[in-house]
Amino acid sequence: METGELTQGTMATQDADMPSLAAPVKRRIRIVRRKINGQTDWRFWSQVFWTGICLWIGWEFWRFVNFYETGAVGTPPGRPAGAEAFLPISGLLGIKDWIVNGVLNHIHPAATIVLGLALVSSVVLKKSFCGWVCPIGFISEAVGTAGQKIHRWKGRLPKALDWPLRSVKYLLLAFFVWAIILQMSPSALAAFIQSPYNKVADIKMMKFFTEMDSESLWILGSLVVLGFAVSGFWCRFLCPHAALPGLVSFLSQFKITRTVRACIDCNKCNVACPAHIPVMQLARVRSDECNSCMACVDVCPSSEALNLSLPKNRARVSRLGALVAVTGIFVAGIGIAQLTGHWQTSITSEEYSQRIPHINDAIYFHNRGAVEE
Ligand code: SF4
Ligand code: SF4
Repeated sequence: METGELTQGTMATQDADMPSLAAPVKRRIRIVRRKINGQTDWRFWSQVFWTGICLWIGWEFWRFVNFYETGAVGTPPGRPAGAEAFLPISGLLGIKDWIVNGVLNHIHPAATIVLGLALVSSVVLKKSFCGWVCPIGFISEAVGTAGQKIHRWKGRLPKALDWPLRSVKYLLLAFFVWAIILQMSPSALAAFIQSPYNKVADIKMMKFFTEMDSESLWILGSLVVLGFAVSGFWCRFLCPHAALPGLVSFLSQFKITRTVRACIDCNKCNVACPAHIPVMQLARVRSDECNSCMACVDVCPSSEALNLSLPKNRARVSRLGALVAVTGIFVAGIGIAQLTGHWQTSITSEEYSQRIPHINDAIYFHNRGAVEE
């Protein structure tokens, strides 16, 4: 069984015999009791938790923008800073600004904080941001699982296609590192951070989804179809948020570790791994694609063969332990940023009230980074 599938086999059998009117009730019970090998599927609940938070942020952010678009009458809603989590380029700009100038970018500080926390969690527990936190990863998994149930294909591309496609996200990362880290002078960086475009980049990003034109519909529709056909298409091949954590994850000392003498060479881990990693052929999984989902551990019939652990199987991490570590990093990091005043933007309500109604004016275009006030 792959991660994410239900283990309530007897319940599934009972469902088939139940009258159709009872089906919704049984289905709710199955979701609430979601378990893997008799233990709570903490990864699933972590993904549900963060996806719920992001949906709430999206709704609050839409209310905030809509308030200023419709005349700003009444009490302004608060702006949820977490919306910046979907601005990885702003996060990269912020990290460079932090390194060069020693201060945290105060236009989109939450973008820098979230990218920083994704990197910290990757240093600790492989690419756990993708597997335990990211709502896009969760949706991508759900779309891929639905696709597999229908077309019955594991979605593994031949290596000759898989390798070049996997390199696309690193080429995108290389381009942004070249453009931002290597090419941008400190003064150009400061000017871009303070530019009108950057100040409303989060609103532009939201409008990509709320005011779709035919081009954005084509892009999104194509990604859904591709994700339906090839499980995890976006995360594996394209996501810029996955590339840097993937590279940093090589530093993680916690990895899937296989005890060769306990392994019975059943191949179940290879089949279960959504990242297509040949776990059965490895002593330690170093791959940048491993997101600590623990699907391989879950299917392994030998209790001693696979663990998420330090070298020599020291400090084995359970699903609950991984949940505490990953959630702890994000909750503590965001909490500290909020308490120390490094979470909310310095853009005032007055400034938003002037900018938002004119967001389609030419000064709010990107212009390849050369934006003038
Ligand atoms: S190696 Fe194991 S933990 Fe890593 S991605 Fe594959 S199944 Fe998940
Ligand atoms: S699932 Fe466990 S026993 Fe089977 S090949 Fe993988 S590590 Fe070995």
